[in-house]
Amino acid sequence: MSDFDVDLFVIGGGSGGVRAARIAAQHGARVMLAEEYRLGGTCVIRGCVPKKLLVYAARFHGEFEDAAGFGWTVPHATFDWKTLIANKDKEIGRLETVYGTLLEKSGVKVFKSRATLTDAHTVQVANGDRVKAAHVLISTGGTPSYGDKIPGVEHAISSNEAFHLPELPRRVVIQGGGYIAVEFAGIFAGLGAHVTLVYRGENILRGFDDEVRQHLRMDMEKHGIRVVTGCTITAIEHRGAHYSVHLSSGNHIPADKVMFATGRVPNVAKLGLKEAGVEIAKNGGVAVDEYSRTTAKSIYAVGDVTNRINLTPVAIREGHAFADTVFGGKPTIVDHVNVPTAVFSEPEVGAVGLTETEARAKLQQTDVYKAMFRPLKATLSGRDTTVLVKLIVDGETDRVVGCHIVGEGAAEMVQLAAVAIKMRATKADFDATMALHPTIAEELVTMRTRSATYAREAAE
Ligand SMILES: Cc1cc2nc3c(=O)[nH]c(=O)nc-3n(C[C@H](O)[C@H](O)[C@H](O)COP(=O)(O)OP(=O)(O)OC[C@H]3O[C@@H](n4cnc5c(N)ncnc54)[C@H](O)[C@@H]3O)c2cc1C
Repeated sequence: MSDFDVDLFVIGGGSGGVRAARIAAQHGARVMLAEEYRLGGTCVIRGCVPKKLLVYAARFHGEFEDAAGFGWTVPHATFDWKTLIANKDKEIGRLETVYGTLLEKSGVKVFKSRATLTDAHTVQVANGDRVKAAHVLISTGGTPSYGDKIPGVEHAISSNEAFHLPELPRRVVIQGGGYIAVEFAGIFAGLGAHVTLVYRGENILRGFDDEVRQHLRMDMEKHGIRVVTGCTITAIEHRGAHYSVHLSSGNHIPADKVMFATGRVPNVAKLGLKEAGVEIAKNGGVAVDEYSRTTAKSIYAVGDVTNRINLTPVAIREGHAFADTVFGGKPTIVDHVNVPTAVFSEPEVGAVGLTETEARAKLQQTDVYKAMFRPLKATLSGRDTTVLVKLIVDGETDRVVGCHIVGEGAAEMVQLAAVAIKMRATKADFDATMALHPTIAEELVTMRTRSATYAREAAE
């Protein structure tokens, strides 16, 4: 008989934890899981899924406007925030139940409780009960961080609260330049709010291709979002029913809501990591090896708590790989290269692989193919927008190493381009593929002329 109560205890019932628990149970392990808030975690409860529902809601604004050019007369459209939030909450509640049922059907015992480690094999739940586990998986995700503590920061909300506002604010100031800040700017603006985005860096979406960043910013500004860069919020002053937001530039902006989307930090605090011998990496997440094993032999960590690539599909893959490695007799390393990503801004961004800047620093020769054009739909709608499609090619091998798109459907297109890039497709393979007309995606296979070519600069 084993000395342990279970083979696996999973701390955190989000994307990574739920997948790991289910697969481990399918491999025959006895599994328990603790979730302190709601099953499904950030993605389902207050991340990807509710966000995309709000994005859909916001996009109707543009659709109603565009319809006129196609002959439609749309009566003055009105929007009701309460209906949207109630319908969204209903769907999120349904998904949460689905997650619970999946775990139950897999034979996983769920504790609706916070859990902490007391040593490398012992997990304590909130009522003080202790469980001895042969293995522990830390999948506690991350939490919004408010950055430097400025006066009045307690008045600011994060994305967590943005999903539950009692009403749509009329004027919103968002601090941050990452994808969550940019997406919420589009959501609030699309639903009718005046939005100002304040970001301390030079331009939004650090880490994305520079032309993508520039293109998106221009389009956001064209559609009424005020983007203030090189600037931070220094104080939030409560003035009756609204706020006065003080900026480092010396300006003040009136706002009904102030949102901070200034990054997320891994949930590593007060977990008992030290007691269990689990070390923290330089990136602030739990330190893990390529199999997601921590510095304690019996403990693994997956997903945002490791701060590798903080995306749902990555957390799911890592959780699955962990279960296969430890309980399935199939050691599996997750490949973190060429992970496609999207920003559900207005217009949308999709990206996979190297940016132009990264390629030029890495490759002997970088070829850039680029198309910027007015989409067909905009000809009749009259919408002032352009699409950017950009391929980055390794000039020596002809391999396509990056694909970056700004425009309607960018995320869907990049998911498919990612398959080709993962398969090491060359530019010649793209060119040999027949175009599908009339689409935006056909540009991917019809760009014949290089827009630029660069030799790597000799290192000093
Ligand atoms: C606004 C927003 C939008 C996003 N949009 C996208 C997107 O479009 N696409 C995408 O791929 N990713 C998106 N993400 C990121 C995605 O949500 C995360 O990468 C993903 O949820 C990580 O999964 P995880 O399992 O690591 O952690 P989580 O899903 O965060 O799950 C961790 C769980 O652990 C629980 N927990 C924490 N500590 C304890 C404890 N001590 N005991 C018990 N339970 C505990 C938490 O309550 C939580 O439920 C978004 C995130 C946010 C915030």
